[in-house]
Amino acid sequence: MSVGRNDISGLKQTSVTNPLRIYETESVSHTGTVACRVSPHRRQPVRPWKHCLAALVCSVVLTPAAHSEFTIRSRIIGGKPHLYIADIAEYFRFDMSKYYNSVELSSEQRRIVLTNGKRKAKIGTAIVYLNFEPRFDRTSAFISQMDFVSLIDPILRDTGLPKHPLRRIIIDPGHGGKDNGAVGSRVLEKNVNLRISKDLKNILEPYGYVVALTRTTDEYISLRGRGVATQKWGGDLFVSIHCNATHNKNVSGIETFIVTPRGASSTTQSKVQRKSVRGNEFDRLNSRLGYEIHQQMLSTTGARDRGLKYHRWQVLREASCPAVLIESGFLSNAAEERKLESQVYQHALAVSIAKGIISFHNALKK
Ligand SMILES: [Zn+2]
Repeated sequence: MSVGRNDISGLKQTSVTNPLRIYETESVSHTGTVACRVSPHRRQPVRPWKHCLAALVCSVVLTPAAHSEFTIRSRIIGGKPHLYIADIAEYFRFDMSKYYNSVELSSEQRRIVLTNGKRKAKIGTAIVYLNFEPRFDRTSAFISQMDFVSLIDPILRDTGLPKHPLRRIIIDPGHGGKDNGAVGSRVLEKNVNLRISKDLKNILEPYGYVVALTRTTDEYISLRGRGVATQKWGGDLFVSIHCNATHNKNVSGIETFIVTPRGASSTTQSKVQRKSVRGNEFDRLNSRLGYEIHQQMLSTTGARDRGLKYHRWQVLREASCPAVLIESGFLSNAAEERKLESQVYQHALAVSIAKGIISFHNALKK
């Protein structure tokens, strides 16, 4: 793969500019209906979306201006509030096609596919795992309110993202010292992680970021120590770099993890995480950061897409800033191991992660 040294000049802003502006919201009614009123003049900003989100949670009523309104209806399904996908489609000006078991939302910029009873969804070119399965009935399709608020909306809309500074970036090369991580037939995970991390640091610094690594040599650092270092150093963003391995040698591809929100279960587990952890403070930012990095990595490398997933890895649980953990590929897969040990592929990975971070930063500036 040919990727120019530190060349991220081709970086495009991938986020969709939200055409909608909310000026008024309404409280949750006793029947569980959530009404979010938005201006019909959708290109004219009036009030920020956070007011609507506040209403979803706190039943805040904002005084309406003299405009007509738009409502996202909700229904309680399985004890949880779900939103009508048709309303969300209209809200974001997507065309919607409902099939027997799936729904497709499409615009000029993006296509979203949601499947009845499946957490696996597609947003743009990337696979994204939802917190809960979408639910369909004969006439309508629904997505959980949590998925809309903490995942879909932050990915689709720049202006709804919480304010967050982004200057100091901490890169965490997984494992080190006595902890080899995954062991391939030719390379050790800890060494690949460190090389990608150092490369990423070199790529980011010319863009004005202050970048630190949790380790710069082959040394052992505890998981807790990595979180403490981030907090002490005052990192605004945390990226943990790993490689994967499994007993099935055919498995390959990239997966990106963000911390599991409270009330949901991790992607490959059924246990519901009832408690909030520190990293949950950044759920919405994590979603956008994870999405930007994940899709950049896939489009740059052409690797198999294993999805943006949720897990409560310790470094994500204890994160004091938006955080992702990247599994760059499988050392247990011979072809992927050969790629991962090559400097060219390591550089392609580093460039794509940098692109994802800069895309995320651009979205924050909106
Ligand atoms: Zn690892």
